[in-house]
Amino acid sequence: MLGRCLCGSVRFEVDMPVETCVTCHCDSCRRQCSAPMTVYIGVADGCWRWTQGAPRIYRSSPGVERGFCENCGTPLSFRSAKLSGVMHLYVAAMDQPEAFAPTLHVAYEERLPWLKLADGLPTHAGPDYTKA
Ligand SMILES: [Zn+2]
Repeated sequence: MLGRCLCGSVRFEVDMPVETCVTCHCDSCRRQCSAPMTVYIGVADGCWRWTQGAPRIYRSSPGVERGFCENCGTPLSFRSAKLSGVMHLYVAAMDQPEAFAPTLHVAYEERLPWLKLADGLPTHAGPDYTKA
């Protein structure tokens, strides 16, 4: 599936189906996306590619790289050394975000108290999950 930033300068493709799809409540994702939570997919290296341009990288904490379009600012990706070989791409940047559905909440203890969710999905403490 194809995805892109708001201005279209950075475009990417992921091979379907993807390995994981989770909702993250961590403070860093919240700030990068300027949103109360975000949903991302995990894709093994080799199963995704930038097809036009590439994001600028911001290192938000040791071992964590967050990618964004340097033209329009759209957050696009993050990768953690703790989950080596896996790229995470934000579902909201996909051409068909409805094709993905999260199966797990991660960093659930950091969620905003006014955010009321009733999807019944399992929760995980902390941002580093190994299986969704
Ligand atoms: Zn852009």
